[in-house]
Amino acid sequence: MKIWQLPVPDNLKEIIASTGIEELYPPQIDAINAGVLEGRNLVLASPTASGKTLIAELCALKHVMERNGKILYLTPLRALANEKYNDFMKYTQLRRRDGRRIRVGISTGDYDSSDAWLGRYDIIVTTNEKADSLLRHRADWMSDISLVVADEIHVINDAERGPTLEIVLARLRQLNPKIQILALSATISNANEIAEWLNAEVVTTDWRPIPLREGVIVKNEIMFKDGGAMRIGEAVSKSPINVVLYVLKNGGQVLIFTGTRKKSMNLAKKLAEYVKDFISKPVKRALLELSNKILATGERTKISELLSKVIECGVAFHHAGLTSSHRRLIEESFRNGIIKVLTATPTLASGVNLPARTVIIHDYRRYEPGYGYYPISILEYKQMAGRAGRPRFDKEGEALLVAKTDEEAEYLLQNYIIAKPERIWSRLGVERILRSHVLSTIAAGYAYNENDIYNFFDKTFYGYQFSSSLIKGTIEKIILFLYEEEMVSVKGNIISATNFGRRVSELYIDPVSAVIIRDALSLRPAKFTEISLLHMVSHTPDMYPRLRPYRREIDDIELFMEQHREEFITDFLEEYGDYLDYEDVLGEVKAVWVLYSWIEERSEDEILNRFNVQPGDLFRLTESAKWLLYSSKELAKLLGHRDLIPKIRELYERVEKGVEKELLSLVKLKGIGRVRGRILYNAGFRTIEDIKNAPLEKLIEVPNIGAKLAMQIKEEAGGTIKRDRWERIKRSKDWRQSAVSEF
Ligand code: ADP
Repeated sequence: MKIWQLPVPDNLKEIIASTGIEELYPPQIDAINAGVLEGRNLVLASPTASGKTLIAELCALKHVMERNGKILYLTPLRALANEKYNDFMKYTQLRRRDGRRIRVGISTGDYDSSDAWLGRYDIIVTTNEKADSLLRHRADWMSDISLVVADEIHVINDAERGPTLEIVLARLRQLNPKIQILALSATISNANEIAEWLNAEVVTTDWRPIPLREGVIVKNEIMFKDGGAMRIGEAVSKSPINVVLYVLKNGGQVLIFTGTRKKSMNLAKKLAEYVKDFISKPVKRALLELSNKILATGERTKISELLSKVIECGVAFHHAGLTSSHRRLIEESFRNGIIKVLTATPTLASGVNLPARTVIIHDYRRYEPGYGYYPISILEYKQMAGRAGRPRFDKEGEALLVAKTDEEAEYLLQNYIIAKPERIWSRLGVERILRSHVLSTIAAGYAYNENDIYNFFDKTFYGYQFSSSLIKGTIEKIILFLYEEEMVSVKGNIISATNFGRRVSELYIDPVSAVIIRDALSLRPAKFTEISLLHMVSHTPDMYPRLRPYRREIDDIELFMEQHREEFITDFLEEYGDYLDYEDVLGEVKAVWVLYSWIEERSEDEILNRFNVQPGDLFRLTESAKWLLYSSKELAKLLGHRDLIPKIRELYERVEKGVEKELLSLVKLKGIGRVRGRILYNAGFRTIEDIKNAPLEKLIEVPNIGAKLAMQIKEEAGGTIKRDRWERIKRSKDWRQSAVSEF
């Protein structure tokens, strides 16, 4: 089927044709034949890069252009939301029926807002969590949504993020029973179950635009699924590195999945020695530039130093311990072909689109603290393998598992390569997860009595797979808990939320977190300090990531605990007398200590060395703390603890910026982060007023400031700069050399 044959407006076809697409791929034809453009619900389960996005785009634009419809595009990750938002931006020159240009919006942050402004957009891209929070705020435009696209719907299988997605879909259908649903999925074995749940057609296929050859590397031989075999030259004794070198020799790029972050770094280090010989001069220059950019982005740590070093050789590593700006830089440079070999943890497999000619799955076992090593699922394997083969560049892609022995090779062949991906299951039926969804169902007015609640849960994928009667006991227990904690009230058989309950639901926190915060705010420890507040948030189940104490740290953590005993919100010995959860307690105290070190301006490198908390984790920790502190401030307002609000607000700002109190005013200036703020402060510029009145030369002289930034902050502080001086500085060498990126 040709693009011009599609039943969509001509100017839409023109834009698609201008991107080089002339004919539809087979799964796309199947989707069209299934009636997706006529409003039928559809589950489209096909491999990465088989063109699912185009179907979503066609469907979305048809809704907007032909009937002024409104589209919600759901993704599981912020990075994916950005990717899709950019995909849709190419259509903003098109118009709706009423002549207005199409508006595309994105919203992924701030869970405590109904974002009324989003109502102005036709296509709205969000994460599943953001959509859930919008539904809790009853954003009124949500009932106008005519099409919801659920990208990566197999995420339903994820214990943490899956339930949110099924709740969001069930709620949207409740709000608007006529809503069209388009669910996109990797290949799974029970796509038909999801389709039945959603009353949808189903298209399942293994078709790929670039053929995929799957195989196993044993010693220096590759055994392919199709029976072929290949010997690889041996530059390194019995190592998958030989395969990497083979692919590089043939002009390809390699993506290698490792089981742990540490392995990804060690392997990158080892690979760098060999890969550097394959780099041409112009690429070498680009790599050097990238390497410098890595060092200049954010604070220097031993991780960023290692990253910049291996990048010089054409190799990089990618994992959740890196800052997001480093990850984006690496993704971009791998896509541009500058980085030749990328080692990564499995999180990359479900992230942004990043194909390579060859994918090597170095470890089919993955390590998770607390669980140890376990084999990855077939679904995960398929997603990693699916990254092989770059459209437009490669004739075929290769996905290779690494085995040590022939027996292991056989095992991998049977259990991954020819195996069918698992069924996916609803993960909703767990008390911890259900708690917050039961509250939000009541608080946002989606149910008014117990029966309504069960009816709602029957509409979820859980309800489809198991029936709500299985979680009846859990739901009853949760309602009782919410009643006892005064989040809901009961009159006859009517259940409604109290102000407290409604606010907790909107704040998007676990009701248990709310109880911990409420009690800490009213009971207050003997000495109520920043440590108390940090402990209050670290004690909640919403704090993420959960830190774990290393054995060598235990003495120090206990000492810290002892020194701050009067400031903690719980008496550990009383509460954890049996020491059963002692490791959790230590982890919690460690989180307090890490956050405290952060606001005491310990450098990211010090935090990494002392606690082994990597920059990416530190960022997530501060993000959780900020969200919980914000929620605490809101609850303090509601519960009559106004005296605490300034203190919580100040701590929020300190956690956001990672600074002592005295720097709070300086870091409000654009381009001034914690490092430069401290340098300015120590050079005698302590307030905005000081910057305003400072002679420009003095500011320029401050290390790490430079001309551009000096001018910028002086202007922002309200200072004036004479025109001739401005011109003079702009011509100086200092101006050309200075940068304004924040750190
Ligand atoms: P998926 O969403 O299934 O992972 P994408 O929609 O991202 O896959 O498609 C992968 C690539 O294939 C994109 O670059 C897209 O532009 C291109 N593509 C999609 N459909 C076609 C087609 N019919 N012909 C040629 N290229 C296509």
